[in-house]
Amino acid sequence: MRDHGEVTSKSVAELAGWVGEGDVVVLSGAGLSTESGIPDYRGPSGAARRGTPMTYQAFTRDPVARRRYWARSHLGWRTIGDARPNLGHRAVARLQQLGVLSGIITQNVDGLHQAGGATGVIELHGNLAHVTCLQCGCLIARTEHTRRLDEANPGFAATVRAVNPDGDVELDDAELDGFAVVDCDSCGGMLKPDVVYFGETVPAERVSRSFELVASARTLMVLGSSLTVMSGRRFVLRAAKEGIRVAIVNQGVTRGEPYAGLIVDAPLGEVLPELVRRVELGMRAHPLGGVPA
Ligand SMILES: [Zn+2]
Repeated sequence: MRDHGEVTSKSVAELAGWVGEGDVVVLSGAGLSTESGIPDYRGPSGAARRGTPMTYQAFTRDPVARRRYWARSHLGWRTIGDARPNLGHRAVARLQQLGVLSGIITQNVDGLHQAGGATGVIELHGNLAHVTCLQCGCLIARTEHTRRLDEANPGFAATVRAVNPDGDVELDDAELDGFAVVDCDSCGGMLKPDVVYFGETVPAERVSRSFELVASARTLMVLGSSLTVMSGRRFVLRAAKEGIRVAIVNQGVTRGEPYAGLIVDAPLGEVLPELVRRVELGMRAHPLGGVPA
């Protein structure tokens, strides 16, 4: 049996060496937010999702699917909207303040990086805190939309069984009867959460900005992503192709393993504060940059 604790502390020390050299791009996934109470349905602690995720096609073409989505999402928002940044999010923000990060790219739609103090975050899949009109393109705050949904559905309360990371909840169809969807206040158009659905592509501008960041990085540090979907994995492939080193901090298996020079398989809420501590120590010992080997 290997001493997991010792192995972890050795690899965190090595990771601190890499991060201390600066120019690190962070790519984060659902595993960073599990300690904030948002389940990662692909990770080891997450229950497998029962239903299939909403697709853009179903949402725009099927009024019943749309009503079901909004009813579930309306309830799920209570969990996502109340979630608070955890030690991992705060550690990433601290690394940014220390000047060692050149960018943060996230696959998460919960806004917790920013709530934890980070800035300039590229949200690949959007953010659940906004709702957009598919006709006039206006952006509405989720809090305002929630108020309108509450108004249109007095007394709607159903029993939530489980919340998915995209803010959807498990709910019996019978409980959705009579739920009223609201449309755009200014043009009457269809409203959709400002997130990228399955069947939709990430806006090209976000993708190219992310590729530029990765291409100029010294290290790509993946946090809490199993890299199952290509939307995130392509950045790891690009980094590997260009000889940029890849570090992965993730609990459980990851598809990035063949490309990573360093993998830490441990809870992010423990690893990341320890990483910050070591990077800060290294900076104090060598103020001109670099962490002793
Ligand atoms: Zn509109």
